[in-house]
Amino acid sequence: MIGLPLLRPALKWTSSGALLTLIAIGGVVTIGLVLASAIWASRESDLAALDRQRELSNTRLSTQIERVAHELDLMAEGYASSISTVDETNVSPQDGKGFSHLIKSIFGYDQVFVIDGDGKLALETDAEIASRYDWAKPLLLPLLTRLRQQDEPLPVVELMRLEGRPSIAGIKAITLGSQPVAPTNRLYLIAYRYIDGPALDAFSREQGLNGARFARAADPDIEEVTFEIRATSTGEPIGFIIWTPDLPGSRVVSRLLPALAASALIIASLLAMLMLLLKKSMSELTDSEQKARRQSLHDALTDLPNRILFGRRLTDCLEDQRLNVTRSVVALIDLDKFKAVNDTFGHGAGDELLTAVADHIRALLGPNDTLARLGGDEFALLLPDRAKTDRSHLELFQRIITSLNAPFPLLDGKVTATIGCSIGATSLTSARQTTSEVLHLADIALYEAKSTGRNRCVEYSARLDSSAQMRAELKSELQTLLSTGGTDPQSEFGLEVFFQTIHCTAPGHAVSGAEALVRWRHETHGLLTPDKFITLAEDSGMIHELGMVVLERACAAATGWDSTQFVSVNVSPLQLRRPDYVDAVVKVLEQTGLAAERLELELTETALLDADEAVVSDTLARLRNAGIKIALDDFGTGYSSLSHLVRFGIDRIKIDRSFVKLLGSRADGAAVVSAIVALSHSLNLSTTAEGVETEGQRDFLVAAGCNDLQGFLLSKPVPNPDMGVVDEAATDLRSSGLSIA
Ligand code: C2E
Ligand code: CA
Ligand code: CA
Repeated sequence: MIGLPLLRPALKWTSSGALLTLIAIGGVVTIGLVLASAIWASRESDLAALDRQRELSNTRLSTQIERVAHELDLMAEGYASSISTVDETNVSPQDGKGFSHLIKSIFGYDQVFVIDGDGKLALETDAEIASRYDWAKPLLLPLLTRLRQQDEPLPVVELMRLEGRPSIAGIKAITLGSQPVAPTNRLYLIAYRYIDGPALDAFSREQGLNGARFARAADPDIEEVTFEIRATSTGEPIGFIIWTPDLPGSRVVSRLLPALAASALIIASLLAMLMLLLKKSMSELTDSEQKARRQSLHDALTDLPNRILFGRRLTDCLEDQRLNVTRSVVALIDLDKFKAVNDTFGHGAGDELLTAVADHIRALLGPNDTLARLGGDEFALLLPDRAKTDRSHLELFQRIITSLNAPFPLLDGKVTATIGCSIGATSLTSARQTTSEVLHLADIALYEAKSTGRNRCVEYSARLDSSAQMRAELKSELQTLLSTGGTDPQSEFGLEVFFQTIHCTAPGHAVSGAEALVRWRHETHGLLTPDKFITLAEDSGMIHELGMVVLERACAAATGWDSTQFVSVNVSPLQLRRPDYVDAVVKVLEQTGLAAERLELELTETALLDADEAVVSDTLARLRNAGIKIALDDFGTGYSSLSHLVRFGIDRIKIDRSFVKLLGSRADGAAVVSAIVALSHSLNLSTTAEGVETEGQRDFLVAAGCNDLQGFLLSKPVPNPDMGVVDEAATDLRSSGLSIA
């Protein structure tokens, strides 16, 4: 479960990475294809051009051969006419040198011979010509043979290598007069022209063959091409024409190349930019997805897992339960007085406190433990895989309690909050448990921790079930009871109001009033004190009805007391929130006929802070306008703040019995009590000290200047208080000789 959310983005990233790679490959392939097709097209066009050039060369050679044949005809005729006067049957040698020279210069041949039927030179000539003929003779005589083999008197022209050079050589019979001549008596004209050298120059000029040269072997340079010239008779290569071909494709490509490269570069950079943008937005998307997923499973303020994630991890633990022998522990942590901090110092301070609490607890946990914030000031712990015998979690809970009891400096140290916490824990016992069952058991334990003194940890046990069970029973019984005004018409069981008298510190300790304290006379549980059912009534929305029963009875009883004596009634914070509360109180006063001035309502500081401040101020103002007095109960245990005393209209402070208890045992107890009394007087408030059990306490409180005293020393809560008798303890005071402020 924990791994999965982490895995999913990784998968996502892999697929987007693959997409980016695909785009990159696509882009590169496209650019490559464009370049490749340009190169391919240029190569194709180059090859076509080359073919054309070779084809043209071939045609050109054929044309040259034809021309030689034609010129041989002309030359032979010319020769024949020049010697027509000579005896046709006996051809005698002429001026061969002159003739040869003439032919060479007119027709541009490199060599011309006239030979007889035996292959001998028929014209007189010089030694050079004769020696050249001797050289060429073996190559030329086959031409004669082939000419003779022909039926028609056409010249024979062939490509061959002569004197090591490629040449076009031809032979033609010279026809003298009209008489047929025996083949051996005939004369033959042989002429040849080298096709390298100047001929090649002319040839390449006409063909547009760039830098054409002749080579015996095909040894072209890197950019050159060759054209092979073959001997007509043998087919053997007699040489090569080598030239730098005109390649229009390459030319176009080389001209286009800078532009192509620039476009490819631009496209590639655009593609790279696009990919970067894509990558960035993809990673942003993944990030925000991850963030959203994290946010949905975590508390924004403390960054702790929230209720959903905690539930998932708990489910996982429950599933693992089957597989191993360890067990997991779940605990609920509830902060005390968080609301007071929030309301007194503002939400900023409240948030700071929650964050600090989270940090404090987190610092104490192991790597596998989960701390979650379920909402408000509710935290939950999951300690997985503890050995069955391991009790270390109890030590951990104690460390948490100690840690959260330390003062928390808030708002840059401007204020300090002291809170505390209650912890309810349970161990996972079976894989069949559901998460809500587990949390319910932890909740029962937490309830127990809270209702038995707070700042402690309670582990769930079956015993708690019975008190939970008892609470459930009491709840339904209380419901029934309240529907009939707090009394059971069929029995003597039901709600009763006891009174504990409050005594003036002035000599005589006259009873100045009494506090109404509710009791429940229960059929099976006996006389129940408020701690057994007030919280229950508050939790199940019955506190208003219960409070009104007590108020009615208290007011009714007080009408029978001396008119100077007041009755004080405890008010739950929840009652104050009701918009009709003031009207309901006034109505009770009217119904019972008690003067408003004789009623005192006791509120705790929490009651002031638990509701909307404006609403509470307004309610208190209306009550006081009606003449009712307001006392701040248990002062010193709550968030004892001077500002509350000033801000809300208060008439009296009741100093909590925990301070009174310190008197005589700790020196600072006396200091605190004196300070509270002094403070109250300076604010013009009356003070009542609660829980006075010893004479020493009483004497100190009298000396300190308290207005009234309440406690077992003077009277216990009783159904019918003695409102007129000055008790023995008060008499003792008079004889003690203490001066009273
Ligand atoms: P409280 O308002 O502080 O009431 C005083 C409690 O201290 C009473 O307990 C009383 O019996 C006890 N007490 C008085 N003198 C001494 C003493 O010298 N030593 C010791 N150890 N205790 C002393 P009780 O009656 O059990 O009431 C407990 C709390 O229940 C009250 O505390 C009050 O907050 C609440 N409560 C009682 N009656 C009502 C009621 O009608 N409505 C509401 N909302 N709360 C009530
Ligand atoms: Ca009280
Ligand atoms: Ca009290």
